[in-house]
Amino acid sequence: MEVVTRIEDLRRIIPAAKREGRTVGLVPTMGALHAGHLSLIDCAKENGDFIVVSIFVNPTQFGPNEDFERYPRPLEADVEKCREAGVDLIFAPIVDVMYPDGYGTYVDVEGVTDMLEGASRPGHFRGVATVVLKLFAAVEPTRAYFGMKDYQQLKVIEKMVRDLNVKLEIVPVPILRESDGLAMSSRNVYLKPEERQAALALYRALNAAKEAVGSGEKDTKAIQRVASDIIKAEPLAKIDYVAVVDPETLAPIDHIEDKILVALAVRIGSVRLIDNMLVGGNN
Ligand code: AMP
Repeated sequence: MEVVTRIEDLRRIIPAAKREGRTVGLVPTMGALHAGHLSLIDCAKENGDFIVVSIFVNPTQFGPNEDFERYPRPLEADVEKCREAGVDLIFAPIVDVMYPDGYGTYVDVEGVTDMLEGASRPGHFRGVATVVLKLFAAVEPTRAYFGMKDYQQLKVIEKMVRDLNVKLEIVPVPILRESDGLAMSSRNVYLKPEERQAALALYRALNAAKEAVGSGEKDTKAIQRVASDIIKAEPLAKIDYVAVVDPETLAPIDHIEDKILVALAVRIGSVRLIDNMLVGGNN
């Protein structure tokens, strides 16, 4: 496994793998790797890809009051995890490689960025779409793997790929959870023990929404209330949003006819956590 930091290295190594007949799978990450990231890598392995993991804490997707500076950057441990997982190549550029002096091109995906994370974090998806398109152009992967943990991000990338005719396949990967239900996240390390316990309210809320739908509730306001009441009952939790939306357009819906997405963002102390669950339809 090689660890490289420059675009030129990618241009040397990846075409060589393609010449040997390999498909190339890209797993974009911000590092601080956990089992959730490894499940993306495992999917790439199942597809037989030459696996490229990018590790880059992308400054353009963080707002001015967000955690860019304090975001964990345990590069050596990440490299070890990738080696053990059978990754072929790590791309870990410094900020200047991705955004050199004079950089000035950004990708704005319309519509699907208006709500949820897009509303709470202005400019976030502009940064995400920009860095992901740059990674696609640098790696030229056959497939790229994205976790459903960041469900809206997945939809934004799918739309960008469609709209800009980017030639690759986007592979969605289900959310990996701790045994008690907390969705794995690099930000979980910020949680103090009592906050870690309080964070379980997110999964409880999603399950309660699922149960309500299972027992025949069709009114999305009632489902939203069931979920938000559970978060409100947790003293350390503060709701950013609890939303019931269409899983494709992410637009709010009033009445359930098919599958819905229950998505939430909740602050536990100073830590902002997101989670979601697809409910109804065949789920
Ligand atoms: P991040 O490093 O947080 O930017 O995440 C990199 C990729 O891993 C994104 O596609 C995430 O959606 C995915 N990911 C993060 N946590 C999980 C999880 N718990 N389950 C599945 N995928 C995840």
